[in-house]
Amino acid sequence: MGVRRRDRPGLPLVSDLELRSRRVFLRADLNVPLRDGRIADPTRIHASQETLAYLRERGARVVLASHLGRPCGSVVPELSLTPIAESLGIPLLPDSVGPEVERAVDALRDGDAVLLENLRFHPEEEANHPDFAARLARLGDVYANDAFGTCHRAHASTTGIVAHSKQAVAGFLLDREVSTLARLRDTPERPYVCILGGAKVSDKLSVLEALVRKADLVIVGGAMAYTFLLAQGEKVGRSLVETDLVPAAAALMQSGTEFLLPSDHVVADSPGDPGSARTLERIPARAVALDIGPRTRAEIETRLTSAASVFWNGPLGLFETPPFDAGTRAVAQGLARSSAYTVVAGGDSLAAVASAGLGKRIDHCSTGGGASLEFVGGRPLPGLVALEARA
Ligand code: ADP
Ligand code: MG
Repeated sequence: MGVRRRDRPGLPLVSDLELRSRRVFLRADLNVPLRDGRIADPTRIHASQETLAYLRERGARVVLASHLGRPCGSVVPELSLTPIAESLGIPLLPDSVGPEVERAVDALRDGDAVLLENLRFHPEEEANHPDFAARLARLGDVYANDAFGTCHRAHASTTGIVAHSKQAVAGFLLDREVSTLARLRDTPERPYVCILGGAKVSDKLSVLEALVRKADLVIVGGAMAYTFLLAQGEKVGRSLVETDLVPAAAALMQSGTEFLLPSDHVVADSPGDPGSARTLERIPARAVALDIGPRTRAEIETRLTSAASVFWNGPLGLFETPPFDAGTRAVAQGLARSSAYTVVAGGDSLAAVASAGLGKRIDHCSTGGGASLEFVGGRPLPGLVALEARA
């Protein structure tokens, strides 16, 4: 296998370097969903294998690092990377910095790899503290960033570390995410349809404005839709809404881009009562809407047949609880059938695509959620900016 060519100037790659006997600090995004202490979806672990395997084959000594969940700067045993180390078959060190870690890293031989413990057990990681970044940087001769899903965060291991490292490069996953998503960011084929769902408008609002400007059609589903429907003066019963964001939703819909909101709903008496599910065009005062209805599904599928590119983030309903998964499944199938260039981003959306067995029929399944949204919306990602500045 020869040295890989980059299809885009800008990011230096792991394959640009001589790696034998060099310690490589590899920042990956191994932040997988856990259920009862087990890995619920290994997609991100699989996605990180290519760079890890390449480094080891080339004789590098790999110091692999990631965060997991939100321990918020203290040691939370349930958020240990133990299950991830087991899944990768490499040893876990007891911390991410300190003398014991340094000794273990010094003892590595060519082709070895170790995994550091959860970076976010230290508050300095999310604070991007320069001393912590320098301590992490000292564990490697080379810094390699493959953590696309975390590049929108200016943390010590994604951003601060770059300035303290002699060499800083991108891994193959990061490079592929960037070059693939750049196509949607810069030259989307039109009509360009964005489908946005999920739980919270507030999570996504600031990047929505940029996305809405780029898209020809914005389809809003999921809990987010009810804030938009409320902004149109509709009654939404007890569905999830963010009342303070109603004016922002109204402003977005006045920006000139076409919006498609749900015109029928699967409602229930409460999210825990799927037995009471029924389809209605108007949401009763005491009901909560938990999925898009069949007419909306059909409308979305029609619009997908004429799209040239599609970006989808966020499930269209409470898809973890059948029957409220029908809308999300229908959209996943619509994307799989579509001849458009299709990109799906976000942990929950990808899980829905994977559980329907449709992953192979999507052009790009992005490992990023927030990072993909921000990138496609045109926001600079601090982790990428830091790497590019060093290039
Ligand atoms: P992603 O991980 O794909 O970026 P989000 O994390 O933003 O997506 O949102 C996913 C969550 O939104 C899921 O847990 C889903 O159940 C929830 N959700 C979607 N629609 C609704 C709804 N109508 N009511 C309640 N929760 C919803
Ligand atoms: Mg999510």
